[in-house]
Amino acid sequence: MLLSVVVPCLNEEASIPILADRLAKVIAAYGDSAEIVLVDDGSSDRTWTKIEAATQSYSCLRGIRLSGNRGHQIALTAGLEAARGKRIFMLDADLQDPPELLHDMMGLMDRGYDIVYGRRAERQGETAFKRATAWIFYRALNAMSDVDIPCDTGDYRLVNRKALDAVLSMPERARFVRGMFAWAGFRQIGIEYARAPRALGETKYPLRKMLGFAVDAMTAFSTKPLKFATRMSFASLGFSALMMAYVAHSLIVYQTAPGWASVVLAISLFSGVQLLTLGILGEYIGRLYVETKNRPLYFVAEDTRSADLLPLRKVG
Ligand code: UDP
Ligand code: MG
Repeated sequence: MLLSVVVPCLNEEASIPILADRLAKVIAAYGDSAEIVLVDDGSSDRTWTKIEAATQSYSCLRGIRLSGNRGHQIALTAGLEAARGKRIFMLDADLQDPPELLHDMMGLMDRGYDIVYGRRAERQGETAFKRATAWIFYRALNAMSDVDIPCDTGDYRLVNRKALDAVLSMPERARFVRGMFAWAGFRQIGIEYARAPRALGETKYPLRKMLGFAVDAMTAFSTKPLKFATRMSFASLGFSALMMAYVAHSLIVYQTAPGWASVVLAISLFSGVQLLTLGILGEYIGRLYVETKNRPLYFVAEDTRSADLLPLRKVG
């Protein structure tokens, strides 16, 4: 098998048929030695039915249904583990990233690169808020982490077996796949493209998930936030020294202690900093806890390739 295309799908019933058609056209250039792996991340709509229907039209297509919603990065990992190709191409189901760029990516890989990632030169149809937060996120992440994670990239990339096996050997649960590929090393190169608006359906990354994703990325690739408490302790010592001088000065000059306003201000400022520090500790400890449980990342409920072998799995 030369090529595997991996796509995580959550509630993408509208996108699946056009996705399958477009991918099938793109990989036709590689004949029989290419496969498409669609992973249904526990969708609540008819995504799985659409995937099964697509496997009827295209024999190169394989559907895997996870037992529940495990999130984009774990669904992607499930597809990557199932992929059998020498080269693996990953993209989103909403066709924001043009599958046709695969041919250029293959060309670069022929020249010796192990990882060819797409870099978003422009993002059409995304809100100014999403663009701004993404811009800040990638820069903040790079400033904080020791790994050089290319700015404005997603999981849209072509990797070879060597790079994929390296990433799959990392057992962590808080998976930030693009960061893991950056960390893995190897010969990497970016290719610029214009990111189209979502073809159909709506985004599966509401603000709540985006924040969770950002915190996962930060904690997985940096321990700098843990040093925040130490830094803030210096700032608060400095602030207390100033307060002390101010209090002493008022006592001597005006014979009175300063009023409640400064006390309330100081208390609320420092309790805010303390809670924030505790919160940061909590984020890391919570992740440590989840990692030590060492549960499997996902369970496969159905797999169109092994459906004949395991008829019992189809029941229920
Ligand atoms: N996705 C998934 N599980 C999730 C959330 C998203 O498999 O819990 C998939 C989704 O179907 C899509 C890809 O991940 O193929 C990226 O999601 P989306 O396009 O909604 O994100 P955006 O482009 O808006 O950041
Ligand atoms: Mg999208």
